[in-house]
Amino acid sequence: NDVVLKVEHLVKRYPIKKGVFGKSKQYVHALEDVSFELHRGETFAIVGESGCGKSTTGKCVLRLTEPTEGKVLLDGEDFTALSGQDLTRARQKMKLIFQDPYSSLNPRMTVADIIAEPIDIAGTYKTRAERDARVEEVMQAVGLDLSYKYRYPHEFSGGQRQRIGIARAIVLVPEIVVCDEPVSALDVSVQAKVINLLEKLQDELGLSYVFISHDLSVVKHISDTVMVMYLGHQMELASKEELFENPLHPYTQALLDVIPRIADERIQGKKILQGDVPSPTNPPTGCAFSTRCPKCMQVCRERAPEAIEVTPGHTCTCHLFDKNLSEAERRLALDP
Ligand code: SF4
Ligand code: MG
Repeated sequence: NDVVLKVEHLVKRYPIKKGVFGKSKQYVHALEDVSFELHRGETFAIVGESGCGKSTTGKCVLRLTEPTEGKVLLDGEDFTALSGQDLTRARQKMKLIFQDPYSSLNPRMTVADIIAEPIDIAGTYKTRAERDARVEEVMQAVGLDLSYKYRYPHEFSGGQRQRIGIARAIVLVPEIVVCDEPVSALDVSVQAKVINLLEKLQDELGLSYVFISHDLSVVKHISDTVMVMYLGHQMELASKEELFENPLHPYTQALLDVIPRIADERIQGKKILQGDVPSPTNPPTGCAFSTRCPKCMQVCRERAPEAIEVTPGHTCTCHLFDKNLSEAERRLALDP
């Protein structure tokens, strides 16, 4: 499949003021060198704990926040360089589905008006009848009863509200939908239904998804490719099969260990991820995961690892896979 979205070396740093007289600028390192490709019709998942930079990646891709460095190529066109009319036009190709379908829906608008908003703004249809027909078509596609047309968001359950959000996102048939934790706020029973709906729409409309989630069991279901992030860094990137069957990065291994299988295992797994995620204002020297990594070596405290393609398509940002390390560098680091 061809590449619909290519992200190259995205960096996002927010300056923060340090003291009244402080001249030295401090930064929040929200994103450090993130690169990936999304293939048409596929789902690229971004996984990690809260604060790892996955939502920031989504926002930078959509340019809801401007990346500090790096490029976003949409259909081969440099999306990061666009402005004015060109940006508005290109923006139609990418839509966003939010985690919280309630706060993202205007409580004063009817379901029909919410769904129609993008086509109203774009002036897609000349007649009211055409516009209304399109709204009904999309409502049916996402499984919303047509009798809901003139009702308001607060009258619906979380799952129904997420269907309204999805309908609004697809009414203009975008190429890419960035789904930011689309089912995290929903009951488990409803999650599966919304995931199945997203998959159905993907097949019918040829949509490509960037699927942001902290939940590996959801990601395992929907994704084709997975990127694991930690403290703004890309840690591992592989096909879904490869990532779940052959996780290489110590952080990915720890994450997979906390997927609840049986109660005992869950308790064991949680031990691996003891300790807090360091502050993005003051990240550790060397590897971002070095303060929590059970395999941390001498070298990990000294310099940051680079992404290494261990097998074709399977990239891991970890010194363990660097063949050129010296004996001294390979020594296990003593506890800090
Ligand atoms: Fe652990 Fe070192 Fe690999 Fe980082 S580079 S994940 S600290 S082994
Ligand atoms: Mg799929």
